[in-house]
Amino acid sequence: MMKKCSFCKQPLADEPAFEVCKKCGHAIWGEKMFNAIKENMEKAKQVGDLYQGSVTEDQHFRKAI
Ligand SMILES: [Zn+2]
Repeated sequence: MMKKCSFCKQPLADEPAFEVCKKCGHAIWGEKMFNAIKENMEKAKQVGDLYQGSVTEDQHFRKAI
């Protein structure tokens, strides 16, 4: 499924880690801040992907109790 910008609902083809398009991001945060946020989101996603399995299992386990 294609992600969409949270603000203008434009489909996002090349920004999978961050659900805000470049145009809205620049309008809201400015170009520099937007790039910094995007970078952090991409790093967080990489870490999340690495640990996703164990985190998900842990959450299900806690819910079950
Ligand atoms: Zn947008």
